[in-house]
Amino acid sequence: MNWENIFATRMGRMKASEIRELLKLLDQPDIISFAGGIPDPALFPTEAFQDAMTDALSPQNSSAALQYSVSEGYGPLRDWIVEQMEALGIPCTRDNVLITSGSQQALDYLGKMMLSPGDTALVTWPTYMGALGAFNAYEPTYDRLMPGGNRSADDYAKTAEAAGGRVKFAYASVDFANPTGETLDLTARENILDLAEVLDIAVIEDSAYQTLRYDGDPIPPMLALEIARKGSIEECRTLYCGSFSKSLAPGLRVGWVCGAASVISQLVLMKQAADLHSATLNQMAINSVARSVFSDHTAKLRRTYSARRNTMLDALAEHMPEGVTWTKPEGGMFVWLTLPKQMDGAALLKSALETQKLAFVPGQAFYADRSNANTLRLSFSLADDEKIKEGMKRLGAAIRAQM
Ligand code: PMP
Repeated sequence: MNWENIFATRMGRMKASEIRELLKLLDQPDIISFAGGIPDPALFPTEAFQDAMTDALSPQNSSAALQYSVSEGYGPLRDWIVEQMEALGIPCTRDNVLITSGSQQALDYLGKMMLSPGDTALVTWPTYMGALGAFNAYEPTYDRLMPGGNRSADDYAKTAEAAGGRVKFAYASVDFANPTGETLDLTARENILDLAEVLDIAVIEDSAYQTLRYDGDPIPPMLALEIARKGSIEECRTLYCGSFSKSLAPGLRVGWVCGAASVISQLVLMKQAADLHSATLNQMAINSVARSVFSDHTAKLRRTYSARRNTMLDALAEHMPEGVTWTKPEGGMFVWLTLPKQMDGAALLKSALETQKLAFVPGQAFYADRSNANTLRLSFSLADDEKIKEGMKRLGAAIRAQM
């Protein structure tokens, strides 16, 4: 059978994620890897989850935990999220929150809800590769979101029209972005909201790393800034995507989207049609672990990851040759390296794997237009101090060898 004749056109945009393919190669114990942007499993709140699962499966709770439940998500967990949103300057109710299977599912649903083939999605250059992967299924055109405000709304609208659709949304990872580690400052956030107003488009605010700030002052989410402008979440065009993956446990696949109830109710219909609801047991466990250990646990994550970030920044300063620059993230898991223009991150990875037993993610796949091959992403969340120091030494050697 020739499946190519059977596949829908959207399959033409589906490609294996370069990171996932790469991670398969990293089982060899002698490789030092800064590739996976994943939490350190040694830090999971395992005991709290054991207690929570035991409680959820106790005689008084098990019939709810093992049963179908509502598409909106587990009520007590939505209430806990409402409290967190309020603390961020986002007054809302349960009706403004849908629980999703990771924030990745929220990105998929938002793409599905807004993009017809040929419509334009505005994304930063570079952007989270998983967002491009989620949106690709809906066959959009991408245009470059410039949070500096240095392109006119008219220019965006005309470019989208020429591509055969209209601009539907601007997507941005706001705090300690994947892949750059950079944070959008207040002006950049206000600029995006201004642009969205003039273009009359939605804003997707990806806040996956929000709890992992190590220094500097927190900046209000775009949804909070928009509520301050308009008085109520119901008037807002921003949809905030949150996640428990970086704060508690990614394997349970629990995230959420928060926005105007009129939009959330549409997303609930989409969730009903797609997978009915996220796993009830997992939502119950996340709810009880969040209520018992969230602030202590995330404080511990911040202490550990910030020390690793410091080690990486110090080791980069010591080992990188002239002509290499990198970001200085205030939180999250990533440092983004820019190599001299003529160098190629993918070629460097190949030689670094072979000669230095070192892995990272080449930067090109994070660009919707596949530009800027002279970049790479390093994650500091998984390696201990010694590995980070040794790894940056090997990276310096690998770069010098290619220069
Ligand atoms: N957004 C960003 C910026 C991410 O880095 C990730 C995970 N790598 C996600 C969303 C998706 O996370 P999850 O589905 O586990 O919530």
